[in-house]
Amino acid sequence: MPRRRLIWQLYPAYLVVVVVSIAAAVVYIDHAVRGVFLQQRVASLKARAALIAGRLPQPFPRAAGAELDALVRRLDEEAGARVTLIAPDGVVLSDSEKTPPLDNHAHRPEVVAALAGEVGLVERYSDTMRMEMHYCARPVLDDGRIVGVLRVALPTADVSDALAAIRLRLEVGALAMAALAAAMGIAIFSRVVARPLAQIRASASAFTAGNLTSVIPDQRAEEFGGLSDAVNTMARQLHDQIRTITQQSNEQRAVLASMIEGVVAIDSQERILSLNAAAATFLGVEPARVIGRPIREIVRNTQLQRFVARTLAGSDPVEGDLVLPAEGEDRYLQAHGTVLRDPAGAGIGALVVLNDVTRLRRLENIRRDFVANVSHELRTPVTAIKGSIETLREGAMDDPARAEQFLAILARQADRLNAIIEDLLRLSRIEQENERAEVELAPHRLRDVLQSALSDCQAQAAEREINLRLTCPPDLLARVNAPLLEQAVVNLLDNAIKYSDPGASVDLNALADEREVRIEVRDTGSGIPAEHLPRIFERFYRVDKARSRRLGGTGLGLAIVKHIAQAHRGSISVASTVGKGSVFTLHLPLLTTEERGGK
Ligand code: ADP
Repeated sequence: MPRRRLIWQLYPAYLVVVVVSIAAAVVYIDHAVRGVFLQQRVASLKARAALIAGRLPQPFPRAAGAELDALVRRLDEEAGARVTLIAPDGVVLSDSEKTPPLDNHAHRPEVVAALAGEVGLVERYSDTMRMEMHYCARPVLDDGRIVGVLRVALPTADVSDALAAIRLRLEVGALAMAALAAAMGIAIFSRVVARPLAQIRASASAFTAGNLTSVIPDQRAEEFGGLSDAVNTMARQLHDQIRTITQQSNEQRAVLASMIEGVVAIDSQERILSLNAAAATFLGVEPARVIGRPIREIVRNTQLQRFVARTLAGSDPVEGDLVLPAEGEDRYLQAHGTVLRDPAGAGIGALVVLNDVTRLRRLENIRRDFVANVSHELRTPVTAIKGSIETLREGAMDDPARAEQFLAILARQADRLNAIIEDLLRLSRIEQENERAEVELAPHRLRDVLQSALSDCQAQAAEREINLRLTCPPDLLARVNAPLLEQAVVNLLDNAIKYSDPGASVDLNALADEREVRIEVRDTGSGIPAEHLPRIFERFYRVDKARSRRLGGTGLGLAIVKHIAQAHRGSISVASTVGKGSVFTLHLPLLTTEERGGK
C-alpha cells in the first residue's frame, strides 16, 4: 500500500475544519451586523418619521399643491430622507422626490399598515425611484381619526454599501486568519506530532542498526511519551538479552575452543553446523571454510561417514574408533555420537565428540612391542642355557674339556641375562624417577663427572687398544645428577669403543655456548646408516643384531641415555657417517644465573 506522510492525511481535514469554521463565523458576523444595521435603520426611519410628523401642517392637507411640495422638499432636506404624504384613500398628496400625480399608494404594504393604525415598515423596490428602499409609514391622526399617512424612505443602498464594506473587511480578515491557521497548523503539527515521531523513528532505526543503547528523548505528549517509554524499555530489554546471549555464546565458544576434545555439530543433512579448533585440527580442515558443507565432502573417510550416518539413524548415543590417515603417523580417534534434538524433542542433527587416542595407542603399541622384545631377548640366552644343560646331562659332563666349554657358555649366557635384566631395571628406574620428578639435579663440575666415566671405560678401551681423550673446561658447571650422567656417558663411550676399530681414538668433549651445554662422544668407527638413525634410541633397536650380541650389547644402552637426557631436561642427538664414525651429543640446559652465582 502506498504510504503518505501523516501530515498530508491529517492536514486537509484540519484545513476543511478551519475554513468551514471561519466561513461560518463570517456568515454569522455578517448576519449579526446586518441585523444591527437594520435595527438602526428602523430606529432612524422611525425617529425621522416622528420628527417630520411634528412639523406637518395642521390640519393635514387634503390636496396637493406647490406649497405643500415645497414644504415636503424642505422636510426632505432637513431629515435627509424621502418624504411622502398620502391621503387616506391612497392618493399621493406630495412626494419630495417626485411631483404628483403618482400611482395610488393605497395598496403599498407600508401604507396598508399605516392605514390600519400601525407603523408600517417595509423594504421593497421603488417603482418611482427605481431602487430598493426602506419605507416607514405612520398614520397621521386628528382626533383619533386617520387623516393621512406620512411615509419616510431611505435607499437600502446606504446600508448595503456599509455592509458590503464590512463584509469585505470580514472576508479579508477571514482569509488572513485561515492563512495564519494553515501555517500554524503546519508548525504545530510538525512540533507536536512530526518531530516526536521523527525522533522515535530515528531511535527505532538506530535500534534496528544494532545501537540499542540509544534512547528516545522524553516526550511532552502523553501518547508519544508512553510510546517512547515502551520502545525504550523494549530496546533496553533487547540489549540486556542480546548481551546475555552474546556472553553465553562467547562462553560456550571459549569452552569449545579450549576443549582438547574435538566437537562437531552437524545437521540432519550431514552439513557441518559448527566445529571447534580441536576438531578442525583432527580432521585437517579450516573451520571458516567448512561450515554449512556436508561432512562427507570435507573429510573423505568412510569410517567417519559411517559413524555419522549411524549416529543420525539411531536415537541412542553411539561410540566408535576411527583412524584418520595423516602425514607421518595415522591419527586414532575415539568418537562419541549423540543425536541433537530441538526443544520439542525432534532430531535435528548430531553432535560428534572426538578424542585423540593416538598417544595412548602409541603407548599401547610400545608396551606390546616391548613385552615381545623383552621376551625375545630373554629367550635367546635361556635357549642357549637350556641347550648347554641338556648337552651336559647327555654326557658332556663326563668329558671335562667339553664340560668346561659348556659351563663357559652357561656363564656367558647368565651374564647376558643379568646384563639385560640390569639394563631393564635401570631403564625402568630412570623412567619412574623421571615421571615422578624424583631425579635430583644439582650443579656439578662436569669435568669430574666425565673423568669418572672415562675411568670406568678405561680398562675396556685398553683391551681394544682404543685411546680415550677428554676435553672439558675445568670450571664448566652443569645441573646434573652425577651418577646418572656418568651412566649415560659410560653407555656412549662403551658403544664408541665397541664400534671402533682397534687403535682408534674416542673423544669425549664438553663445551658450553650461550644456549646450552653439550657433551659429545666422537668416534671414528663403523658409523650408522642414515635410515637407522631415527630409531636407534628405541629399546632393543640394533643396527646389526648379531654384532651387538657378540659384543655383549643389550640394545638398551641408547634408550637409557635418552631417558637420562630427558631426566636432565635435555636431549640426545646423533650425527653419523657410515665408515667414518659417529658423534653422539647430549644437550643439557645452562645453569641459571643464581645457580652460577651460588657455586
Ligand atoms: P647395544 O647394546 O646394542 O649397543 P645400544 O642401544 O647402545 O645397544 O645401541 C643401539 C644400536 O646402535 C647398536 O646396536 C648399534 O648398532 C648402534 N650404535 C650405537 N652406538 C654406535 C656407534 N658409536 N657406532 C656405530 N653404531 C652404534
